[in-house]
Amino acid sequence: MADTAAENLTDGFHLIIDALKLNDLTTIYGVPGIPITDFGRIAQAEGMRVLSFRHEQHAGYAAAIAGYLTKKPGICLTVSAPGFLNGLTALAHATTNCFPMILISGSSEREVVDLQQGDYEEMDQLAIAKPLCKAAFRVLHAQDIGIGIARAIRAAVSGRPGGVYLDLPAKLFGQVMDADAGARSLVKVIDPAPRQIPAPDSIARAIDLLKGAKRPLIIFGKGAAYAQADDDIRTLVEKSGIPYLPMSMAKGLLPDTHPQSAGPARSLVLKEADVVVMIGARLNWLLSHGKGKTWGDKPKSFIQIDIEPKEMDSNVEIAAPVVGDIGSCVTALLDAMGDNWKAPPAEWTDAITAKVESNVAKMAPRLQNNNVPMDYHGALGSLKTIIRERPDVILVNEGANTLDFARSIIDMYQPRKRLDVGTWGVMGIGMGQAIGAAVETGKPVLAIEGDSAFGFSGMEIETICRYNLPICVVVFNNNGIYRGTDVNPTGGSDVAPTVFVKDARYDKMMEAFGGVGVYATSPDDLSRAVNEALNSGKPTLINAVIDENAGTESGRIGNLNPQSVVSKK
Ligand code: ADP
Ligand code: MG
Repeated sequence: MADTAAENLTDGFHLIIDALKLNDLTTIYGVPGIPITDFGRIAQAEGMRVLSFRHEQHAGYAAAIAGYLTKKPGICLTVSAPGFLNGLTALAHATTNCFPMILISGSSEREVVDLQQGDYEEMDQLAIAKPLCKAAFRVLHAQDIGIGIARAIRAAVSGRPGGVYLDLPAKLFGQVMDADAGARSLVKVIDPAPRQIPAPDSIARAIDLLKGAKRPLIIFGKGAAYAQADDDIRTLVEKSGIPYLPMSMAKGLLPDTHPQSAGPARSLVLKEADVVVMIGARLNWLLSHGKGKTWGDKPKSFIQIDIEPKEMDSNVEIAAPVVGDIGSCVTALLDAMGDNWKAPPAEWTDAITAKVESNVAKMAPRLQNNNVPMDYHGALGSLKTIIRERPDVILVNEGANTLDFARSIIDMYQPRKRLDVGTWGVMGIGMGQAIGAAVETGKPVLAIEGDSAFGFSGMEIETICRYNLPICVVVFNNNGIYRGTDVNPTGGSDVAPTVFVKDARYDKMMEAFGGVGVYATSPDDLSRAVNEALNSGKPTLINAVIDENAGTESGRIGNLNPQSVVSKK
């Protein structure tokens, strides 16, 4: 429609692209199709990076993790109804994990959708997205594109970050308007995530509580990692002398080998602590809701630092709520601590150090075995060494046993290097996160995947090869979900629901797309192959053969699985 004679005109396509670029959003993760195919083409022609996936969910996971890593909303672009729904899982995941992301979906004609007259891919996408994200907007007129995108950006990154849905009906893309007026309609969002300074009395309350603590503990969550206040956080830990526990994705915020890390003494510190400082972590199921056996029966007081006021008292009473952004809150605490801060009693810190040392020593020999077939400890022992030697590698991790063992065995040394299944424990984040992380950071990625977990996003290895990304995927192949050993109790010909094809060769899938495939049966093989992959930067998939008897049901959360008493023989 827009020809060369129309130089002083612009249209929806160009306004969307210009609005994104004006706000430094230059990468799109998506899947092309009606009505956004041309949009992707034009965006690429206009210098944006447009990465096509094989399924929207994985494009969405890439966008979500891009948001986590960069503090800018990751952009996911999908077609209408089915594509939108595929992307929606990732949008809900982003919202649940407090990652900023914008899902942009093309949609069908409003007039037809609203009268339910049966349009191509008819669906009221805006209504469906609303309960699953932080905010949802629809733009109907080209002149509103600038403000619509500005609202989406601000909603995604301000306060508690989250997922935003932006509905763009097909007709909008072709709408034409005067180019100058169009340019003037764009909005560059000023200070999209304003600092939120904590109230001074909330800081004083927290400091008072902390001063009286005999057994204080700091718990970091991924909100603390997201905040990128790494230096101040480290100063707070070291100046206070308080032991700390990182949640999964906060590992590496300070090195796991730091003398104040209580990671390997987790059970002890949760039970014994008397004052717990939560920093960007929620007292949800991952922390047993702040009560019960995990936390023991000694009285505890909580200080909680979070940007979301509604998070306070979500599960237990918070004695000292500190509401603000983590950077500002940590700085305020540091100022209020003054110069004569007294370290916690040695009795407490020595007991933790002793527990950490004995647990680490107990684990060490198990990690050195070179068994064939491999068990989790032998395989992960070799990967632990690799991360120690290459601390800037980004680790992506999903699975059941593969997740639980890797989380506790592999030490992390730098912030935001461990990406995993997050708050929901989603299986399927693997390849999307690996791609998002490689694209956003340019760093090598090591994805450690259970064979079942890998299956959810396995086709995206074609995407990895297509963009020649420095990603090494290790599939821990034990022939099934949890273990490959279940049998069908009826003796029928169907295998048990948790069992896969025996001795599947995932490495050959990678070879099919031109990547490097490796079949590894020993920890030494595995170690050699991973080092080679990380040195070469070539897309690689290592099929790591794991003893199908190793591992347990659901990893460490088997207790969440309801079991029938009646059907037990
Ligand atoms: P984890 O699972 O690692 O414990 P959660 O996702 O449960 O972490 O918690 C992250 C918390 O961090 C959320 O409550 C969120 O509101 C908070 N948060 C995220 N970013 C910031 C920030 N910049 N400042 C303060 N709090 C933040
Ligand atoms: Mg398995």
